[in-house]
Amino acid sequence: MKNIIPAASLGLPISIEKKASMDEALELFSLSGEEILIVMADGEYIGALSRRSLFNAKRYGLKVNLSEIAEEIPSGETFPGLEVLRNPLGAFLVLKETPKSLITLKEGPLLQEGLFKKETVKLKGELKTFAQILCEISSELGVSAYFVGGVVRDLILNRPCFDIDVVITRKVQKFAEKFARALQGEIIKKSLFGTFKIKAGAYIFDIAQMRWEYYEAPARLPRIAPGPLRLDLFRRDFTVNALALCPVTGQIVDFYGGVADIFSQKLRVLHVLSFIDDPTRIFRAARYATRFNLELTKTTLRAIDLALKFETLNLLTPARLRNEFLRIFEEKEPLKAILFLKKHRILKKLFSLDPDETLFKKAFHLAEVAGLGERAEIELVALLLAGSPEEFAKLELSTKKFESYQRQRKSLEEKASWLLDPAIPVSEKVFFLEKFPKELLCASVSFLDEDFLLRCFKHYFKVSPGLSGKDLKRLGLNSGPILGKILKKIRAAKLDGQIKDGEEITFLEKELKNGFPS
Ligand code: ATP
Repeated sequence: MKNIIPAASLGLPISIEKKASMDEALELFSLSGEEILIVMADGEYIGALSRRSLFNAKRYGLKVNLSEIAEEIPSGETFPGLEVLRNPLGAFLVLKETPKSLITLKEGPLLQEGLFKKETVKLKGELKTFAQILCEISSELGVSAYFVGGVVRDLILNRPCFDIDVVITRKVQKFAEKFARALQGEIIKKSLFGTFKIKAGAYIFDIAQMRWEYYEAPARLPRIAPGPLRLDLFRRDFTVNALALCPVTGQIVDFYGGVADIFSQKLRVLHVLSFIDDPTRIFRAARYATRFNLELTKTTLRAIDLALKFETLNLLTPARLRNEFLRIFEEKEPLKAILFLKKHRILKKLFSLDPDETLFKKAFHLAEVAGLGERAEIELVALLLAGSPEEFAKLELSTKKFESYQRQRKSLEEKASWLLDPAIPVSEKVFFLEKFPKELLCASVSFLDEDFLLRCFKHYFKVSPGLSGKDLKRLGLNSGPILGKILKKIRAAKLDGQIKDGEEITFLEKELKNGFPS
């Protein structure tokens, strides 16, 4: 505690009124040389405005009030008499008694004085071996290497991770080659951003140079350049993923409060324009928030508001949007992520149909029972959400496909009451329904009987005649289209409960005597 300077003696932070214009704020940043201004309204503190967010908002031509881009300051550790607050930008604010006594401090002195806990992790098993190899190659090449991103998060959460990201300071190609050789793996891809993907057993490694990045315009791919670890972590999606781990010491590098956010289950963007820069991060938010049960912080919610207000979602290319949905379907509970997107108005912004939660639940339950693959799942989503061929195209689906689904949907609608009629034999209904794609049947649960569809997927569609064409020929029947008709009749008898498995031949003999099939 001896190193803590009393907050009051450090004076007041530079503040700006919420009503001030963007230009006035920019001028104040220039004049004061500060990175953060405190936004005030009626003497109350309402958030921290970062120079970078204001500058980028201006660069993108966004017209915003200062309060829309002011960020909340998460609380850090508490000490007797004062609370230390952390801003993702790396500045710390010490709050004492009233909001007016907020003071800004640079990150360095506090970190060095050990005010913040240093977390370390004990590496075990294969990760320990990987760390040793990283250390050896790093010292051989005279570079530094860190594990970064999801692997650090998963390590803290004690979850297995087979996708491991590594950043190094320089010589990335040499490093990747040596690393692949040491692991007896192979380089399988070199990405646009100079990243090397290595496959070694069950593991996939991404080896990249530490870099910083900026966006020329919303939703574009970023421009990149080599940079320090602090900025490599700042360019990431959420604080829980903006962590690095030093393989030499096992120490976690946490500039932005990611460890605290993991333990308090918070999903926090690194800055308020994060979703304007890259709207795919909202879909990532849907995955992480539901997978780890994380609560969105105020700044994260504000970042969603901004992305919606400035229409950035519609700037995503179909390939990128489709890819995000595919990744959602890789999750254990994709429905939760889809409902997250609905709750946060993302789906409504992209598509005109707005099905209620119950319809999503029913359709996804059917899809699970039907065992739809990822491609069909995307089409199910498109069927539930898209009201026009243009909206279908947002998921890389063709106009032709849209029209074909529309036609088939109409046939289903026309038969909806016929399908409900108990006098119609089950077999006739099954023969009719099984001609349609499964995803369309799932999406049609809004007007078709859910129970009947469930029975179709669980049982009826799987009922087989129990005999093949070959069997019929062996029984003395001549080949030709007649065989198909006979098999269909046997299947119908099974679907309608007239016969059970094993009774096919007796049934066939009886029917043949009666001149079957007519
Ligand atoms: P998952 O468990 O879903 O695979 P992951 O964290 O490994 O999670 P990846 O998609 O493999 O996710 O990305 C690796 C890391 O790269 C992330 O942890 C994150 O730090 C960063 N990252 C990936 N995509 C983005 C993005 N669109 N914007 C910012 N950072 C990103």
